[in-house]
This record gives sequence, C-alpha cells and structure tokens, in this order.
Amino acid sequence: MTGKQLFAGSFPDASNAGYPVVVSTWDFGKAANAAAWEILSRSGRALDAVEAGVRIPEADETNQSVGYGGLPDRDGRVTLDACIMDEKYNCGSVMCLEHIKHPISVARLVMEKTPHIILTGEGALRFALANGFKKENLLTPAAEKAWREWLKTSEYKPVANIENQLYQPGKDPMPGSKDNHDTIGMLALDAQGNISGACTTSGLAYKMQGRVGDSPVIGAGLYVDNEVGGATATGVGEEVIRIVGAHLIVELMRQGRSPQAACREAVERIIKRNPARAKEIQVGFLALNKKGEYGAYCLQKGFTYAVRNQHTDTVIHSNSIY
Ligand code: ASP
Repeated sequence: MTGKQLFAGSFPDASNAGYPVVVSTWDFGKAANAAAWEILSRSGRALDAVEAGVRIPEADETNQSVGYGGLPDRDGRVTLDACIMDEKYNCGSVMCLEHIKHPISVARLVMEKTPHIILTGEGALRFALANGFKKENLLTPAAEKAWREWLKTSEYKPVANIENQLYQPGKDPMPGSKDNHDTIGMLALDAQGNISGACTTSGLAYKMQGRVGDSPVIGAGLYVDNEVGGATATGVGEEVIRIVGAHLIVELMRQGRSPQAACREAVERIIKRNPARAKEIQVGFLALNKKGEYGAYCLQKGFTYAVRNQHTDTVIHSNSIY
C-alpha cells in the first residue's frame, strides 16, 4: 500500500456516499472489498458480496488473525468464530469451529438450513462436514512457530494494534506483535439498497480453549438493520460484548447520528466503563448507513478500514480517541 491511498484524520461521512458500497475493517479489507465489489457492481446481492468478500482473508495464510493461518489458542488449536446477517434479520453464526477454512460459509448455512442461529464447536464441525466442507489442518508452520515462541513465556496480554503493528500484505504478518488481533468485519449495501454484513476471525491469539469473542455474537461484533444501516467491530471482544457494540451503533444511527458519530459514542462508552483499561487496548468500530454514508472510530491510532464504491477504492485511517 502506498501512503497515497491513506487519508489521515477526519473523513466526512457524506462524501463519496451512495450505493452499491462495501466497507470492511483493516488494510486487508481492500482485497476483500474487491471480491465483494465483483458481485455488487453486477447488481448482485449484498449477502453474497459479504460472504465472498470475507472469504479472501479467511483463505490467506499470511493473515494470522482470520481463518486459515490464524494464530491458535494457548493449546495450539485454531478455533474460528464467524457470523453473517442479511436485510431481513436472518442471521447465522459459528463459534469455536475447528478445521474448516471458511467459517463464514458455514455460518451462512446455519442461517439458511437450520432452525437455529448459532452452532458451536463439535456440533458446528459436524454440521459443516455433513454439508460437504473439507476437514483441514488450519495451523500453518508460521502460526505454530509463533505459538511455540509464545509458550516460552505464556504471557497473555492482548495489546492494542497500534500504528506500527499494522498488517501489511506480503510482509511479516506479525510486525512487532505476538498478540495481533484483527478481525474482518464487512458491511455492504447493494444496488437494490439492501444491507448485509459478515464478520470472521480466529479471535485473540493464545486465548483460553473455548473462548469466544464478540465477532460471532450478533449485536456485538456485527449487526445490520435494513431500516437503518449496519455496524461491525474489531479489537478486544470482551469490551465490545459488554456494550453490545454493533447494535448500540445501529440504534444510535436510528436516532440520527452519523456513522462516525455513532461509532465514537460507542468507543466513549468503553472508556467510561474503565478508562485505565481503555488506554491499553484497541477497539475499532465501523458503520454504514442506508444512504451509503460510512464512518469509523477507535480507541488507539492505527485502526484502518477499506471502502469501495463507484467513486473510490481506498483505505482510510479511522479517527481515534487517543
Ligand atoms: N474481536 C476479536 C475477538 O475478540 C479479535 C479482533 O478483532 O482482533 O475475538
């Protein structure tokens, strides 16, 4: 990525608005947006776009925080969390799913083929295998090496993804950090004006076995409401769950806040609960409203998001509190 593609500081929600549009978290969202745009630009459905989009980082073994190649839990197991939601409040989620490269597609099948919304662990795996997904080893040599290194101290301290720790495609996937945590959350508004979202992650590196973060929790890591818009989250999931972050942002937008103002208010609520903790961690929110306006806010500098519509294909630095 060149510096030219990054806009620092404030980015007005209304500029470059309209739809179809797709937004997603972090720099690697740009490649994911390209896959989503393939569908959106041909008047395809937002739901198909977000699924296709987030499958890109899920399959990217150099991305150590999503899907295949993700960093494992402290027992060396790669456990994945994902959820998806469409314009009719239909949603599906998998939590703590092992051995399946594309948890987002399993989440979609949970939504479309079962009477349930969430499947976890062994049950989610059995469902995936019964539906033709392949059982694979998701622990890559690089992730295993990082885990074995971590085992030497076994110090669990999920730190903020601050500026110098940004993921850079093609470069060391873990620049300067053994605790990187970068979920992809994606929101798309299609040519028909319908919104959908997807969120997928390997969760916090070296988490306890069985830990589930915000990402597959409808309302926390992702929420969309076709009357209002959608929101998604990245960062330390425990803090996002406490404030039911994505749902909070959608409700704030319903009350008239811009996407950026709504995201900022959610971040401020995290700070209010525990100001000292908020200084040490990263949480970033991204939102899109029904006009195609988008905005983000985060605790620490360093959170970026990618936007693709007919005017732009870029990565933007989110504003931050600190
Ligand atoms: N939110 C994710 C989790 O807590 C991690 C991340 O976004 O990096 O599992």
